[in-house]
Amino acid sequence: MADDIGQKMRAIPGMDVLLEKEWTASWRQRLGRETVKRVFNEELSRIRRALLRGEDIDVSMETLEKNLEASLAAAGRRRLRPVLNATGVVVHTNLGRSCLAGEALRELGDIAGGYSNLEYNLDEGTRGHRNEHVEEILCALTGAGAALVVNNNAGAVLLCLSALARGTEVVVSRGELVEIGGSFRIPDIMECSGAELVETGTTNRTHLKDYARAITERTSMLLKVHPSNFRMEGFIASPERSDLAALARQRGLIFMEDAGSGLLIRGRELGADFSEETDIKTCLSEGVDLVTFSGDKMLGGPQIGVIAGKKAVISRLRGHPVLRALRVDKMTLAAFETTMRIYMRGDYDAIPTLAMLRRTQESMEAQATSLAGELREVFPSTEDTQVTISVVTVEDAVGGGSCPALPLSGWGVSVETRSREGSARYGTGRLQGILRARELPILCGARGDALVLHVRTLRPGDEKEIVRAFAELSEEARNG
Ligand SMILES: *Cc1c(COP(=O)(O)O)cnc(C)c1O
Repeated sequence: MADDIGQKMRAIPGMDVLLEKEWTASWRQRLGRETVKRVFNEELSRIRRALLRGEDIDVSMETLEKNLEASLAAAGRRRLRPVLNATGVVVHTNLGRSCLAGEALRELGDIAGGYSNLEYNLDEGTRGHRNEHVEEILCALTGAGAALVVNNNAGAVLLCLSALARGTEVVVSRGELVEIGGSFRIPDIMECSGAELVETGTTNRTHLKDYARAITERTSMLLKVHPSNFRMEGFIASPERSDLAALARQRGLIFMEDAGSGLLIRGRELGADFSEETDIKTCLSEGVDLVTFSGDKMLGGPQIGVIAGKKAVISRLRGHPVLRALRVDKMTLAAFETTMRIYMRGDYDAIPTLAMLRRTQESMEAQATSLAGELREVFPSTEDTQVTISVVTVEDAVGGGSCPALPLSGWGVSVETRSREGSARYGTGRLQGILRARELPILCGARGDALVLHVRTLRPGDEKEIVRAFAELSEEARNG
């Protein structure tokens, strides 16, 4: 036995021998010699360790080279990759939130690949400010007197609190001390900014008099936070925005709102489910001094944090070191400006996130029906497996940690496989794993033993890819 191990150990070729192999030349060129060496080293030590553990490993040159090449292919693969979203969650936090409009992508490429007037005033021939490219259009869309952009909404909240409330008290309702996905917690941001959190009211009910009672001579701000990812029902109360605004004005305080998602159009333009959602324009018209929101949630643009509001308040943020630290880069600005321009001309369906949220039941049902038909053709039942492919209604979502926990009704295709004896042929977990392991991973939902492909979030060309995946699965099953 030990002899056998020794023999196999000696059969493993050295690094020099491997690097001399002709087939490695193209890999060295693609990945760099160091990467090829590292991958070979890792693979060879893995084999040696396995041999020492007494595992029966094939160390023939042929098998070895095949494994090495597979490892190189894996190392050469991009780490950050596109995926296919068949989950029906539109603003999917883990899948990159919003998809940019094609037009925004083109403008982004133009700006990123060359020089631009990012911080240059072409009229005067002098230094300009990067914020100027989007401020006017943001004001036009929201009715704000001034606007600033930073890296993201958490950054926007941090900047506002740091610049306006450091060392003073900020009153927040206990019902709004939320945690958003990605561990954004209002109390933590507050502490980070140096502002002092003063809680008021109760979890389910906070009244205007609770705010009034919480105000001291050290208070600088009333802060309202969109609960985003949860919804309270039952015995609940919170004061009207306009009443809070009046209270803040009367006591000489700033009234700020963290709106989270940031709707730039009336909720009802997205569909009946959204009629209760407050858009940014309404929010400002009801007396909020400044409001912050994300660019890549329901707005459908790139990751950015917007601060819009009264000129006098916004001007106190300009020049703050946090603004400099969280400044937006040129690619983001280009994509954001273009997205805003699409809003200005009212072409909402050119923005993928809005188009997905606005989809009609009829169009989703038709899409699911056609996808189901194609899948039935390429993924038929076999002698030992009963395949059931059905068009089903599903529950989609705007997005975890980004928007109200609004249920959205959608359509999908469910795929169930059973062996003739009745047990699941591929467990959903196994099937999901196979789809996830593809070059273009397919992510989908599940219901019981069935896999569910939600059509709302599919992008052009995705159906073809799904059909191809199931055709390959059939092929593999046929070949054993
Ligand atoms: C999502 C969200 C944030 C964080 O925004 P990012 O753009 O992810 O930084 C902050 N506040 C609320 C209410 C949110 O919904």
